[in-house]
Amino acid sequence: MAKRRRRRRRRISLEAVTRIGLLITIILVLILCIVLISRCGKDDELDKVKVPVSGTTTTPSGNDSTSAENTSTNPTDEPTTSSNLNAYGDSIYDDGQVIICIDAGHGGIDGGSVNDSRLEKDDTLKLSLMVKNELEALGATVITTRTTDTDIALYDRPSIANDAHADALISIHRNSYAADTSVKGVEAWIARSNSGNSNDLAAAILAGLDSVGISRNRGVKCGSQGNDNEDYAINSQSSMPSLILEFGFITNYEDNNLYDSKMSEYAKSIAKSVYDWVLAQQ
Ligand SMILES: [Zn+2]
Repeated sequence: MAKRRRRRRRRISLEAVTRIGLLITIILVLILCIVLISRCGKDDELDKVKVPVSGTTTTPSGNDSTSAENTSTNPTDEPTTSSNLNAYGDSIYDDGQVIICIDAGHGGIDGGSVNDSRLEKDDTLKLSLMVKNELEALGATVITTRTTDTDIALYDRPSIANDAHADALISIHRNSYAADTSVKGVEAWIARSNSGNSNDLAAAILAGLDSVGISRNRGVKCGSQGNDNEDYAINSQSSMPSLILEFGFITNYEDNNLYDSKMSEYAKSIAKSVYDWVLAQQ
């Protein structure tokens, strides 16, 4: 009898240990489940925050270096636009728009260079309006300094581009060298600082024009004609990549012929080069 009782007690204590063990296991599994469920909920919340941050285009700030990843850890923060700021701190996109400022050189009482009855101000306006149309066809927003034969003050031109937060400023001119009418070709002028990598943009435009066909690609130049220590106002006063495109010599027969006969192709080429370049900065 004593042996049977001892066996029963051992069986009872073994069953009790097994039950306690099972209970502990169930509790542990429950705790684990609760922890996992709560963590999944947090991840969902973070994902919800990340989506609008990456696509937001409001309130640009030049000094804002907060990344979208950092912002996602703090749902109470205002969305930032860091993904829309370029290397020089300007907003390359405003509400998804590519904004280009086209400046037709001279105008009104300022005729620019002259060759008999041919005036630079008329040539620049014609090409500028065509470039504007081509850019708009590509989907860009175009700001112009003038669309008619009006005189715009020199410093008002870059101001118009700055006020519009343009992504690039292209000033169209024609060159002149009456002392030697055989001098020909297209060249671009940028600021000596090469702000916003204007050199790259200018080179892209010239390469495009080269493939359309120009008398000569005279390359990208810094400063201003005859003065290596001074920039043109349009380049020094603008806060975005900018350049002056001296589109052939008004004093050269071949350049004038090309200008007139290929103007629509030139306009297409300039528009595409600028538009593609700005898009590539994203
Ligand atoms: Zn000019």
